[in-house]
Amino acid sequence: MKKVLLHICCGVCAFGCIEKLKANDFYVEGFFFNPNIHPYQEYEKRKDVLKIVSEIYQINIREGEYVPTLWYNLCEAYKDEPEGGIRCKICYKIRLQETFKLCQTLKFDYFTTTLTISPHKNSRVIFDIGRNISENHFLQIDFKKDNGFKRTQELSHRYKVYHQNYCGCIYSKR
Ligand code: SF4
Repeated sequence: MKKVLLHICCGVCAFGCIEKLKANDFYVEGFFFNPNIHPYQEYEKRKDVLKIVSEIYQINIREGEYVPTLWYNLCEAYKDEPEGGIRCKICYKIRLQETFKLCQTLKFDYFTTTLTISPHKNSRVIFDIGRNISENHFLQIDFKKDNGFKRTQELSHRYKVYHQNYCGCIYSKR
């Protein structure tokens, strides 16, 4: 069974992605690494949902270091970019690079991300970034396909978890 490390942006998106990976016979572990999330209380709320996700699917979910300045120093210059622009590309890269590092440390076969489940995110852009980090190890899955977003919404509502109403960073909140 191939091992995949799933970068998780939030619990809501995690439901559908984990379900799909397991249905495709992957051994899955999660990695919550999101220095983009603002403010800290919001970070905690999203992280709390992962306890439920991890119990339901019986998977291990690790947490990365929460260092907002790491994100801010690289993205602040692009604060006026629209969602999906340069700031977001940098934001995806920061998170995928760290996920790949952990993937290597754990000696997993692949890494991938819940980010592609969002209808607001262009999966091709995310694929390009993932492949540039590691062509051999990035698992290109467009989780929004086959009603993936609808499914993750269904599951997250079934378990009555917190749903955020913005992408994550201070600029998306604004
Ligand atoms: S809008 Fe979302 S993806 Fe884009 S920079 Fe902000 S948190 Fe990152």
